[in-house]
Amino acid sequence: MTNIQFPYPEPPAFGKLLDIAPGIMWMRLPLPFRLDHVNIYLIEDGDGWCVLDAGIWDQRTIDLWEAVLAGPLAGSRLTRLIVTHHHPDHIGLAGWLCRRAEIPLLTSQTAYLACANLSLAPGSPQDRQFHDFYINHGTTREVADQMGTHGLDYLRMVSPLPNTFLRLLSRDMITIGARRFRILTGDGHAPEQVMLYCDEDQLFFPADQVIAKISPNVSVWPNEPDGDPLGHFVRTARRIRDNLPDDVLVLPGHQLPFTGLHARCSELVEHHDRRCDLIGEAVRAGPMTVNDLVPVVFPRELDLHQFGFAFSETLAHVNRMLRRGELTRTAGPDGIVRYAASGRRKAEDDI
Ligand SMILES: [Zn+2]
Ligand SMILES: [Zn+2]
Repeated sequence: MTNIQFPYPEPPAFGKLLDIAPGIMWMRLPLPFRLDHVNIYLIEDGDGWCVLDAGIWDQRTIDLWEAVLAGPLAGSRLTRLIVTHHHPDHIGLAGWLCRRAEIPLLTSQTAYLACANLSLAPGSPQDRQFHDFYINHGTTREVADQMGTHGLDYLRMVSPLPNTFLRLLSRDMITIGARRFRILTGDGHAPEQVMLYCDEDQLFFPADQVIAKISPNVSVWPNEPDGDPLGHFVRTARRIRDNLPDDVLVLPGHQLPFTGLHARCSELVEHHDRRCDLIGEAVRAGPMTVNDLVPVVFPRELDLHQFGFAFSETLAHVNRMLRRGELTRTAGPDGIVRYAASGRRKAEDDI
C-alpha cells in the first residue's frame, strides 16, 4: 500500500459535513452491518447541493438526514440525487429523499431497474430453481434456505423508488454547478455502477468499484448462474487504471478518500488472481464443489450470512476460471456439480 495515501485520515462523525474540496462536502451515514458506514457526498450545484448516494432506509438514517437538512443545510436546498448502484446502502433512501426534498433521481438504467425488479418480486429468490442452485453446488439446506430470504431483506432496506428517473449513461457529460463530470460505469460489484470523474479538478467518485482497504464484493447470484462478474470487475479495474490519471483524489463509497488510484486498481486485480490460484491449487487434489472451496478462499469462521456472500464470491472465481479454461465442470448422478483442474489456461485476451 506504499503508493496509497489518505489525505483525510479522520472521517466525519455520522451526519456531520466535512469540506474536502471547494464545493465538495463529505458525510457519513451508519449501516447496520460489519461495514458500518456509507459515504455520501454533496457537490455544490448553483444555489444548492447535488447529493451522491442516499444511505439505507431506516429510522436512524432518516433522523440524521432530517438533522442535516434542518442544521448545516438549513437555508440551502438540495437540487438532485445521483445514485451509483442498486445496493441498499446507496439506493435505500433514494425514494424517501427525492420525495422529502422534491428532487429528481439520476442513476443508471440497470440500477433503477434492478431495484424496481427486486422490489416487485422480493419472494423470487425462494423459487425452487434458485434453491436447487445452492444445493447442487454442495451447500446445506440451511444455507439454501437462508439465501432465499435475500429479496425480503432487500425490501426492508429500500424505500419505494420514485416513479421517474433520469438515465445516466457511460460517457455522458453532466454539469454540476461550475464543474463538468464525465459519467463512467463499472461492472462486477453491481451492474452498470455509476462513477463520476471531474478532469479539471482531478476528482473521482468510484462508489464501491474501488475502495482503499477492502475488496468490493463480487458475487454470482442464482439468476445468472453462469455469469462472470469477476471478469467484468477486473476489466473495469484495468480500464480505470489505463484511462484515468494516477493523481486524482478518489472519493469512494466506503472507508477513506485516498490517492494512489493506479496502485489500488492493480492490488485489486492481484488480490483476485491470488484467490484463483488458491482454488487452482486445491482442485489439484481432486474435484471439489463450490461449497468445498469456500473455506479454501475464506479460511476463517463465517456465520450463515457471511457464508452466503463467501459462497457467491467463491463461485465468481470458479466461473472466471471456467471461462479461462482452467477448470472443468461435471455434474454427478446426484446433481452435485464438481470442478477439476484442466491443466491448461487460455490467454486473458482470448476471453
Ligand atoms: Zn455496493
Ligand atoms: Zn456500498
